[in-house]
Amino acid sequence: MKTVFVIGAGPAGMFAAQKIAQAGHEVIILNRDIKPGGLAEYGIYPTKDKMKTGLRKQFAKVLSLPTVHYFGNVTVSNDSKINLADLQALSPAAIVFSVGAQGTKKLGLPGETARGVYPAKDFVYNYNSLPLYTSQDFSVGKRVAVVGMGNVMVDIVHWLLIDDPKKTTEEVIVVARRGPFEAKFDGKEFNYVEKHFDRKLFDEELARIQPQLAAVGQDISKLADETFPALKKPAEEVNGSRFRFRFLCQPKEIHADSSGRISRLTVTENVLSERDGSIACKATDKTADIEVDTMIFAIGDVADPSVGLPYGRDAYVTTPNIGEDPKGYPAYEIFDPKNSNVLEGMYAVGWARKASDGLVGIARHDGEVGAAHVLKYLESASDSSISAEQVRGHLERRNIRVVDKADLDCLGRAEEKVAKDRGLTWFKFDKDEDMLNAIETEKSKAVTV
Ligand SMILES: Cc1cc2nc3c(=O)[nH]c(=O)nc-3n(C[C@H](O)[C@H](O)[C@H](O)COP(=O)(O)OP(=O)(O)OC[C@H]3O[C@@H](n4cnc5c(N)ncnc54)[C@H](O)[C@@H]3O)c2cc1C
Repeated sequence: MKTVFVIGAGPAGMFAAQKIAQAGHEVIILNRDIKPGGLAEYGIYPTKDKMKTGLRKQFAKVLSLPTVHYFGNVTVSNDSKINLADLQALSPAAIVFSVGAQGTKKLGLPGETARGVYPAKDFVYNYNSLPLYTSQDFSVGKRVAVVGMGNVMVDIVHWLLIDDPKKTTEEVIVVARRGPFEAKFDGKEFNYVEKHFDRKLFDEELARIQPQLAAVGQDISKLADETFPALKKPAEEVNGSRFRFRFLCQPKEIHADSSGRISRLTVTENVLSERDGSIACKATDKTADIEVDTMIFAIGDVADPSVGLPYGRDAYVTTPNIGEDPKGYPAYEIFDPKNSNVLEGMYAVGWARKASDGLVGIARHDGEVGAAHVLKYLESASDSSISAEQVRGHLERRNIRVVDKADLDCLGRAEEKVAKDRGLTWFKFDKDEDMLNAIETEKSKAVTV
């Protein structure tokens, strides 16, 4: 039996941990958030209860394995109380990084520090009650630009127009670099927001860009079959808040009002071109202005460089493709391109390996395939004798309040109790301090009984 550290308890890390533990090894999970789940807990849309509950059950099953140890509230980074070198000094047999894509792609635009401009991940973490993000300002106004055309954009429209308790938003303008045929969202997800989709404005927008689409051989009559299945249904007039699309443009400059909040977005008009069967866009020298008081950019995320691993364009670098992955993805072991060295025994899985890539099922698969690589490595790796208690001691000496499996049970009971008392189907504490207090209260009750 060898000891493996898994850093990050999202789907990729949890399913990697399960596979490694089931093969007979000891796994110690260190997770930034108090709760496990990552984006499955704090990213997936809040009302997708069935999916979230199902995943929580699967994660609880992983944690119920006696050789899986969980230490939450532990961030591994150069800016935290524990870093990569500290972990290496503990000599685990292998380390798996499943920390997701926690960095933010910078737009690099003049004015992007204006108030009211948010990365989608942070905005989503806020409405999903991830501590740290719940105490920050994510105020929205009446007109919101959402940049990007994937499922995250749809979730944000869903929140702004349907579930946001403040309901301030009257219009969302989806800003897209390319055209409607390059939309990336699933039709099924779009169904949630369909009744706010302004078909009249959409038709006008299609008429505006029709010559552009025709120039690259795109036929608007095929749109319903390709990327906008909602168009197959009869158009209904939108009453109240709505969303519209502004295609073929990209943010150029953000202008703020005298209070420092975004008031206008200047976009560059793009043209489409076709190369090798794929559609690209090219900026022109024409611009347009969109009046907005909020802007959310949903253009994917990047890995967090402060973790201290060799860093590529948007994720940690793993060994160059050795031809075993049919998609041509790189392999799983961390690789330092500066000196062409493999960092032996260190692996990346999930969104840490390929930022913002796919749904939970893909992250799970990636975690499991990565774990298979780890297991192969463990066959010849030197023994490691570090125990979970020694790791805990090490963390506590750094003044880290470690949240373990027993604490998670206490937290679960405390949240259930609040939900019951308030007549809710579920309740989630949204501050670390409240979670830690609730854990202590539950523990003291257990002692009293
Ligand atoms: C807005 C949004 C909505 C989504 N909706 C769906 C959906 O409806 N259905 C679906 O199937 N998929 C959905 N996904 C995709 C899904 O959430 C991801 O595929 C999946 O969560 C990626 O898993 P992961 O484990 O790689 O990363 P993550 O889920 O991001 O997990 C990373 C984990 O690492 C921890 N961590 C981060 N940094 C550190 C650190 N420095 N030290 C220690 N721990 C750290 C975090 O606390 C977290 O627990 C959505 C994604 C987003 C962004």
